[in-house]
Amino acid sequence: MGSQAPASSRRLERMDDLVALCARRGFVFPSSEIYGGINGFWDYGPLGVELKSNLKRAWWQRVVRERADVVGIDSSIITHPRTWEASGHVEFFSDPMVDCRACKKRFRADQIDDAGPCSAREGTSQHEFTEPRNFNLMLQTRIGASEEAASIAYLRPETCQAIFNDFKRVREVARQKIPFGIAQIGKAFRNEINPRNFTFRSREFEQAEMEFFCHPSERERWFEHWLQERLRFHRDLGFDERRLRTRAHAADELAHYCKVAQDVEYRFPFGWQEIEGVHDRGDWDLGRHSEYSGKDLGVTDPETKEHFVPMVIETSIGIDRTCLALLCDAYAEEELENGETRTVMRVHPALAPIQVAVLPLSKKLADPARALEQELRRRFHVFYDEAGNIGRRYRRQDEAGTPFCVTVDFDTASDGKVTVRDRDSMDQERVATAGLVAALAPRLEFPG
Ligand code: ATP
Repeated sequence: MGSQAPASSRRLERMDDLVALCARRGFVFPSSEIYGGINGFWDYGPLGVELKSNLKRAWWQRVVRERADVVGIDSSIITHPRTWEASGHVEFFSDPMVDCRACKKRFRADQIDDAGPCSAREGTSQHEFTEPRNFNLMLQTRIGASEEAASIAYLRPETCQAIFNDFKRVREVARQKIPFGIAQIGKAFRNEINPRNFTFRSREFEQAEMEFFCHPSERERWFEHWLQERLRFHRDLGFDERRLRTRAHAADELAHYCKVAQDVEYRFPFGWQEIEGVHDRGDWDLGRHSEYSGKDLGVTDPETKEHFVPMVIETSIGIDRTCLALLCDAYAEEELENGETRTVMRVHPALAPIQVAVLPLSKKLADPARALEQELRRRFHVFYDEAGNIGRRYRRQDEAGTPFCVTVDFDTASDGKVTVRDRDSMDQERVATAGLVAALAPRLEFPG
């Protein structure tokens, strides 16, 4: 059957187009929408949650399951508050903040160039800023019924500190020797002064972090190894190479714990921005936690008997930011040769929220189509849709990023075949129902 090659294709230029699609199709939308939303918090709908969990699964597969030298944990979000004194977050984890005396809005001092108009000065940019003050980004909560200061705890601003807390036990129970790594995926919270750019800077977000512990003499080698590994992952996610780069941190940008850092950056419509950081954290974390807990977190080499504090190479990816980058990268508006237009999300087939849509050409074909749906569900994430004309149904799946649409028609009963339509090329081919799972499975896999 014929295809309809696009006559022209346009990438995402305005974030508003993506924000609208995400709300309309249920990828991501404001949290607590019925109360007017809450700044810096977002909910993932039925499509978004699938994309996000596919991304997490791909990361876990690559970083933990495919390696013998990395193990996983799932720690509590609230840890002993001493954790954050030891890590330096109580002392250093702050951004300089300024207030506008006229419109009362609050900004990060290093971002006032993007402050926008002052609402009290009739839309001009004449803000009247206060002197910068430091604002700690950790979100506080209280534990138990007591109002005393001793009951204060923090929602973790990064997932990795629990890895350092648990380092000794995990090394023992997993029977790992240096070098090895510990990974975890989970929520982190930062009271960002100015959440913005859709989910890019949120107050609640997910991180996937891996801390790799090595001998001091091997830190450069492992840093390079992990940087290359992470770049391979981002390429495998299908990002356009021209929108991906690494950037080394200048000395004055480095966080308090960090010796060397490289960001993996994606070119969003609002500019080049970090989606992942690869950091050489040195012995800062284990050294500080040894000091604050009074427990020796050093290790002894069984052969040389050398006792040392391992160096830490960290890879830290934002799951929400990477989802946002995937959505930006996938978005295309195409004009077809027949004059129609379509919006298509060209997301990597292995990450697509819906992998296969089953579409009977007529409601009269519901029985065989439902039977096929049930069979495919055992293997793939499937969506069934029999409402509306077939062109409209294809367009809906294009917007959802569904790589394959399978159409059951009036010949299916006699020739045992269905039509498989490819999202990207819009090519259609007749495939025997009996071989359908085998034909689709390799095209829906994430590279190992
Ligand atoms: P930024 O400079 O953008 O504030 P950061 O350098 O503080 O980020 P890290 O502390 O290195 O970020 O965190 C690791 C990853 O966690 C980042 O690469 C990013 O993907 C994610 N991340 C950090 N802060 C946020 C946030 N407010 N919202 C969403 N993701 C975030």
